[in-house]
Amino acid sequence: MAKVISLLAPAYSGSTLIGLILGSDGNITNVGEIRNIELDFNGSATCLCGETLFDCPFWSEIYADQKRSEHAGSWGLKFGRPRRREIDARPPAFFIQLALNLGISPRHFIKRKGPAYARDHDAFIRYISEFTGSEFVVDSSKNLLRYSAVINNSRLDIKYVVIDRKLSELVASRIKRAKKRRSWYSSFFVFIFLYLSIVNIYQLNRLRKTLDKDDIIKISLDEIIENHQGLEFSLEKWLGRRARLKINSKNELDLLGQHIFTGNRWIEDVHKNENRVKLKKDQGVVNFGKIEKIQLNIIRLLLDNRFSLR
Ligand SMILES: [Zn+2]
Repeated sequence: MAKVISLLAPAYSGSTLIGLILGSDGNITNVGEIRNIELDFNGSATCLCGETLFDCPFWSEIYADQKRSEHAGSWGLKFGRPRRREIDARPPAFFIQLALNLGISPRHFIKRKGPAYARDHDAFIRYISEFTGSEFVVDSSKNLLRYSAVINNSRLDIKYVVIDRKLSELVASRIKRAKKRRSWYSSFFVFIFLYLSIVNIYQLNRLRKTLDKDDIIKISLDEIIENHQGLEFSLEKWLGRRARLKINSKNELDLLGQHIFTGNRWIEDVHKNENRVKLKKDQGVVNFGKIEKIQLNIIRLLLDNRFSLR
């Protein structure tokens, strides 16, 4: 039977990479952020394997299957839909986003749409599991409404990988991204990023409390880098079968055979690097300006231990 490994992760926590690490095991298939598959599917987009989606052996076949069964209604997702499902909207409707950022529970917004959404979710996971022959399918979607809809309505066996990343590192990732993309960025935004990261952690902790303890493992990228056998060992105990991650002695993750197209931009360059990615620890606060360094150090010293995923 199809089983799901869902990454319960704050924004900017490195979940794309952790999904790929899990997906390197022969019996686990990682399809990236499932919530973005429908709308981001574009024949000319690049897959992790280096091919365009229409030339990729994995996605082109799935796309053909979907076209064949479009009217059967049993398939789950539809590629290239002009409109995103409400639960997957990115960004969500303004007032929902505001409410979530004020700490209101996501379950208030999925009551009517949750069951139908979870049926499509389950159908897609079953399909991928059958298509690949993998018992486990990794979903690295990070969306509070989706988590809530699936947790409350899915009929599948779902295991949760909680990704532990320090608050200061989450804020640092948001700063890096804003500096790259937005001309209006100033160090004042660090306070907003701090607030958003804290409320994100609060919401995830609330969801996590509703889960069965035995269905959760908590991991961090640093732990995997230090000792990936440790993760294999926990996976074996948790999943009840042998786990082998494709990480070599130089801490390089072999990505050959994985096909994802949602998530980070660096996935487009992986194939140029012989399908490998070096796992390395975060560089800390070295690349920031003086004020940002002070801000991040204060967060690290005073808040990292108070606000974390438990
Ligand atoms: Zn591919």
